[in-house]
Amino acid sequence: MDIVFHGAAGEVTGSCHLVEVAGKRVLLDCGMVQGDRQADERNAADFPFDPKTIDVLVLSHAHIDHTGRVPLLVKRGFAGPIFTHPATIDLATIMLADCANIAMIDAEHDNRHLRPGQKPSVPLYTQDDVDAATKRMRPIEYGASTEILPGVRVTLRDAGHILGSATVEIDADENGVTRKLVFTGDLGPNNTPILCDPAPVPAADLVVMESTYGDRLHKSREDTIAELAAIFAAAHKDGGNVVIPAFAVGRTQELLYFFAGHFDAWNLGAFKLFLDSPMAIRVTAAYDRHENLFDAEAKKLWATRPQPLQLPNLTLTADGEASRRINDIHDHAVIMAGSGMCTGGRIRHHLRHNLANPAAHIVFVGYQASGTLGRIIVEGAKHVRLFGDDIPVRAHVHTVGGLSAHADKDGLSAWYGRIAGHPPVCLVHGEDPGRSKLAVELKGKWGSKVTLPMPGTRVTV
Ligand SMILES: [Zn+2]
Repeated sequence: MDIVFHGAAGEVTGSCHLVEVAGKRVLLDCGMVQGDRQADERNAADFPFDPKTIDVLVLSHAHIDHTGRVPLLVKRGFAGPIFTHPATIDLATIMLADCANIAMIDAEHDNRHLRPGQKPSVPLYTQDDVDAATKRMRPIEYGASTEILPGVRVTLRDAGHILGSATVEIDADENGVTRKLVFTGDLGPNNTPILCDPAPVPAADLVVMESTYGDRLHKSREDTIAELAAIFAAAHKDGGNVVIPAFAVGRTQELLYFFAGHFDAWNLGAFKLFLDSPMAIRVTAAYDRHENLFDAEAKKLWATRPQPLQLPNLTLTADGEASRRINDIHDHAVIMAGSGMCTGGRIRHHLRHNLANPAAHIVFVGYQASGTLGRIIVEGAKHVRLFGDDIPVRAHVHTVGGLSAHADKDGLSAWYGRIAGHPPVCLVHGEDPGRSKLAVELKGKWGSKVTLPMPGTRVTV
């Protein structure tokens, strides 16, 4: 069994790895590159393999950096089945449709300003391509060993990262020997609200492990809750709005879950709450369809009342007109809107209306990539450009760092440490020097043989 690394090798997005076994080709993930200046070009470029030669695709989870190029793969000739968890099918259907919609809007925008002789922009893919891709998806539950090709089996286990996220175990018989490869996808931290902890994997001949936070330790859950409590107390006293750039999948539902659990302690009844993101609204509804995947605490909450994330004073604003009406509220509104890094979407309107208000609080709850508006505000800009206007930043700006969906250095090391015999490991989905530091940790603590693959690196299992 061979694995060739074609994406997220030395960076954190664009997950894509090709497994060659028993004369067949199994692709693990097919994600988009995000955040990088050449992202659009890289996502539209040829695949480093012929999509027609791929027999099967397996998806670890629904995040776009793991699934975003799947409709393109199908458009360019992939004709096999796509195996993944049922909740990932549910979420990917929502998220890929959003991607196709953004691609269409971007192309229309580009084509409005065409110079004579300039070629019109074409969207990377359309909703028809998304439909063609989702039709190929076949559900696999956690823990069920499923034969995906003659002599090749896949087992998914809960990765605790987002709803439906899975570690992927591929075992195959080749020349009378069984070899086992484990791909982590993205691993969640223990004690993530709503989700179960990442499930242990008993054994492997090779582990391909993510390393996003390979050199960092997260703040504790208790400290994070105390931080949020202090922000709401200050916002109540100051009398401004609280604006939260929201990631639609996972983080938004986690925040709503915290709101439900601390509703009285944080005096949330004194605020009007808004979830101002059509995609986050659809994903939140999807959570209600997958209660069976929750941890014991969340199952208890869902058993006591239906749709517990739908708080009594929460307004879901699916249409643009309702979103615009929020602009007339200047105090005691909590506004969660996408995108999480403020690169587009409704959050930019809310920032325009609140950044200049010294009584407002802007709360960042996730990673802000270099060059994004979110990063510029977090780094203390005094003015930002929004819709052609120069907006002074007078609001309080907070970064709440303890809500990460990824395991930190200790979490990754402990999860790996439970695998029998501490097999060789390839670190992906991490930048250097972060993943190099994790490599040092794994070699020192467990005596592991560690590879840091680059695009095109081939490893034999
Ligand atoms: Zn992810």
